[in-house]
Amino acid sequence: MSRSVLVTGGNRGIGLATARAFAEQGDKVTVTYRTGEPPEGLFGVRCDVTDPESVRRAVEEARIQHGPIQVLVSNAGITRDELFVGMDAEDFRAVIETNLLAAVAVTKEVLPDMLKARWGRIVLVASVSAMSGAPGQTNYAASKAGLIGFGRSLSREVGRRKVTVNVVTPGLIETDMVKDVTGPRREHLLGQTSLFRAGEPEEVAGVVKFLASDDASYVTSAVVPVTGGLGVGH
Ligand code: NDP
Repeated sequence: MSRSVLVTGGNRGIGLATARAFAEQGDKVTVTYRTGEPPEGLFGVRCDVTDPESVRRAVEEARIQHGPIQVLVSNAGITRDELFVGMDAEDFRAVIETNLLAAVAVTKEVLPDMLKARWGRIVLVASVSAMSGAPGQTNYAASKAGLIGFGRSLSREVGRRKVTVNVVTPGLIETDMVKDVTGPRREHLLGQTSLFRAGEPEEVAGVVKFLASDDASYVTSAVVPVTGGLGVGH
């Protein structure tokens, strides 16, 4: 098994752990990186996922290097937290644009090859906030809830071609994104988990890898929590 895998935002955090997990099992992995350098040992293409031309070029470079994309992990994402009453319209728009519209654009770019091949795996990285909501995250939760609706609808359109579409909803995972979640807020979140700890990026990567595997051939339209129990019941 050696598939052409594309991971957006694969230069750090959950994306990097996921890219490494695929590479370790022998897949041909392309990661997109927006800033800095590509991660060591992985094929990187520079890409700002909010720029359609950049997305088109990145997918083309990945295709040339490793062949048509067979597995897409749409992972790139941002937060711009603020209570809604004080949130700039621009901060709302930027989060929707990056987390939802860019994921849609990348999916659109890779889907024709999957449909032609009559096989594909799409995994969208959303968040527990999509279901539970979170103060300060009206923009983020809306973007991630949008991914769930998008993914579930798409899965119903492409299932006949053996393309599965699944969503993972991580909870609190130790990456740069949550380094400012400290003190009482962190304790409050950890107290709502069943495992009383934050997750590691590798623990999300393992679930993504499963969803992209042959073992998950009958799993589609699923929303899979990777939260240590945070937000269960939603
Ligand atoms: P990080 O902040 O560590 O990484 C975010 C990644 O997204 C980086 O690679 C970043 O690239 C990339 N990215 C952001 N904007 C763009 C853009 N416009 N174009 C291209 N790449 C972009 O976050 P995580 O690893 O924690 O997050 C990964 C995903 O997991 C996100 O979708 C996030 O919402 C989700 N998630 C994370 C949780 C957590 O607790 N950590 C919880 C729930 C969901 P660059 O390095 O160039 O900025």
